[in-house]
Amino acid sequence: MIIRMRIQRNSERNLTEPEKMEESEMENERKLKLAPSMGCCDLFDFRHQVEFIDPRSDFLHIDIKDGNYVKTYSIGPDFMAALKEHVKTPMDAHLMVSHPQEIIEDCAKAGAACITPHTDCIESDAFVTINRILSLGCKAGIALNPSSSLEAIRYYLPLLSKVTVMIVDAGYAGQKVITQMYDKISTLAKWRAEMGLSFLIEADGSMNADVYRPLYEAGADVVVLGPPALWKKDPDIEKAWSVMEQEMKAALKDANRNI
Ligand code: MG
Repeated sequence: MIIRMRIQRNSERNLTEPEKMEESEMENERKLKLAPSMGCCDLFDFRHQVEFIDPRSDFLHIDIKDGNYVKTYSIGPDFMAALKEHVKTPMDAHLMVSHPQEIIEDCAKAGAACITPHTDCIESDAFVTINRILSLGCKAGIALNPSSSLEAIRYYLPLLSKVTVMIVDAGYAGQKVITQMYDKISTLAKWRAEMGLSFLIEADGSMNADVYRPLYEAGADVVVLGPPALWKKDPDIEKAWSVMEQEMKAALKDANRNI
């Protein structure tokens, strides 16, 4: 009901993409916000899956890989541009590319509400890159691979709307979740409180029902849903979604934050 109301208001007020993201952040009643990875949709059932997922999600996660930063390929800004006219949920471009600076503008034009490069790809021009994203009217996120230190992002945290903590190495399917990342999320959540900031903490990679609770308790706000969490539950997206929701509800029953 809340989500449906949000969409009506979004369309009535003709909100910008970042405004939609803010509204989405405010109005959700789930303990963990949902960001399905839209490149995982079944191509032969694509329209149906997009139409089903869009009103039920908080963000649409768009994985962009260049075959260089990660050794796999995926969709690009054109995919977002094609979705733009058909979805109302804010899109987040997760840039697993060596030179994110080169496609930031394309992502903004394609309708991204948030643009999220990897910290090690913007080390030498972090402030320039983040300010460029903001100047294009988008929100800025940052993604950290498991081996990347939180210290790398400390100085530009005040500019960010979201930090994506990879709980496996970016770009490769089938990995086991690295449970040390719960501590990383917990530390980040403590920093957020100490610094008086309000960025979202997102967990991404090999998401599944076993990790919802420890992620939530550590301080995560958003989970990126891929095949193990959603699509592999059932070939029918409606049934798969229902299983995912039931698993999440059971995992988070009586769960409390550590901080
Ligand atoms: Mg991702």
